[in-house]
Amino acid sequence: MDPGECLLCKSKMREGITEFVARVGEQVVVIKNIPAFVCPNCGESYYSIDTQRKIDRIMEAFHDGRLLAKPLAAGEVDLKALEACPTTSCAAIEDL
Ligand SMILES: [Zn+2]
Repeated sequence: MDPGECLLCKSKMREGITEFVARVGEQVVVIKNIPAFVCPNCGESYYSIDTQRKIDRIMEAFHDGRLLAKPLAAGEVDLKALEACPTTSCAAIEDL
């Protein structure tokens, strides 16, 4: 199957692996190792219909509590909280 061109920037898409990240309530689900067509220029990625179905099924299972996901170390940063931070320790963020 020819991956074709990126819809956003018209670069030639390449076969690759991507991750799908979704938030369900207070939990974050990351589905790894998804075969996809990835744009080497802008990072846009597309899944085949088959892959999309698998992702849908995984998400359904997760919603229903049928899926036992591996605990994941996640870092969550609240941008508003950072902006409001009065201490100098937050100044390092401006170097990012
Ligand atoms: Zn692109």
